[in-house]
Amino acid sequence: MFDQLRAFHRPATIAAALRLFEAERRLGGRGRFVAGGTDLVVQGDRSLRYLVDLSRLPLRYVKKRGGGWAVGATSTMTDLEHARALRHFADGILAEAAGTAGSRQIRNMGTAGGNLANASPACDLAPPLLALDASVVIAGKGVRRTVPLDRFFRGVHRTALNGGLLVEIVIPAPPKAPRGRAAWSFQKVGRLQSDIAVVNAAAGIVLDQHGSCAWARIALGAVAPTPLRARRAEALLVGHAFDRAAIEAAATRAAQEAKPVSDVRASADYRREMSRVLVARALSECLERMGRAR
Ligand SMILES: Cc1cc2nc3c(=O)[nH]c(=O)nc-3n(C[C@H](O)[C@H](O)[C@H](O)COP(=O)(O)OP(=O)(O)OC[C@H]3O[C@@H](n4cnc5c(N)ncnc54)[C@H](O)[C@@H]3O)c2cc1C
Repeated sequence: MFDQLRAFHRPATIAAALRLFEAERRLGGRGRFVAGGTDLVVQGDRSLRYLVDLSRLPLRYVKKRGGGWAVGATSTMTDLEHARALRHFADGILAEAAGTAGSRQIRNMGTAGGNLANASPACDLAPPLLALDASVVIAGKGVRRTVPLDRFFRGVHRTALNGGLLVEIVIPAPPKAPRGRAAWSFQKVGRLQSDIAVVNAAAGIVLDQHGSCAWARIALGAVAPTPLRARRAEALLVGHAFDRAAIEAAATRAAQEAKPVSDVRASADYRREMSRVLVARALSECLERMGRAR
C-alpha cells in the first residue's frame, strides 16, 4: 500500500525528523510521520510520497513532573498500561484506558502520540486525558507550542498539529482535596474487548470536606466529531451534594451534549443512551471509590 513512497526516513533526533519532513514537503506530495503504524497502515493512503518514522526518537518515557506526569509521544499503549506509577495515579484511569486499546499486538505497537494525532473521535486515551486537563507539546518550525487537549482536536482526523510533531503529553497535578476526597473512573463499551469504542467516557470528581462537589470533569468519546468535555454536566455537579440524584442529572445532561452519528458500529440513538449510561457508571464508580477512601 506504500508502493508510491519515494522516501522513508528514520531519524534519531527531533530536529532531524522536523528537518527531513520539511525537506520532503518542499519536494512536493503528501507525507506523514509514522510511529507504530497501527492507524496509518490500516488507512492505506496510496497518495503518500514520504514517511518519517519516529521510532528512534528519544520520546519513549513516562516521567513524574511536579505533581503530574510527562508522557513521551512514542510511549506505547503497553508502556502506559504497565507503568506502575500510572496505575496508582488518578485511580489508574490512563493505564486502564491504554489497556483496553485493541489487542496485545496493537498495544505493543500503537503509541500515545499516534492515538491523539490520528484524532479518531473514539480514541481511548482522549477521555481520561481530557478529564486530567492534559496538554500536548508540539514541535515545529523552530518553536514548541503547548496546546490544551480540549483545543487540540479540530474534527475527525483533524488537529492543531499543523504539520508539527507531537512530542509530549503533559498531565498536571490533579486538584488537591484538602480534607476532602477525589476519585476517577474510565468506562468503555465496544462490540468486543479489542474493538474500538462505541462510546468511551472518563470522569474525575473532587469533593470538599462537607461532601459537596468542588471540581468535576466529564469527558466522552465516539459521540461527536471530536472527543469532548461535557461542560454543562460538570457545571451541574459543582457546588452541590454529590449523590445518586446529582449523578443521574449530570449523566442525562452529558447525553444531551453528545452529538453522535450512526455508523457500522452503532446507531446515534444507542450512542446517546450509552453516553448517559457510561457517565452514570463513571460517576457512580467515583462515588463508590470515595466511599471506600473514607
Ligand atoms: C485492530 C485494531 C484495533 C484498535 N483498537 C483500538 C482501540 O481499542 N482503542 C484505540 O484508541 N485505538 C485503537 N486502534 C487504533 C490505533 O492502534 C491507536 O490509535 C494507536 O495508538 C495509534 O498509534 P500509532 O503509533 O500506531 O499511530 P500511527 O499509525 O503511526 O499514526 C497515526 C497518525 O498519527 C500521526 N502521528 C503519529 N505519531 C505522531 C506524532 N508524534 N506527531 C505527529 N503526528 C503523529 C501519523 O502521521 C498518522 O497520521 C486500533 C487499531 C487497530 C488496527
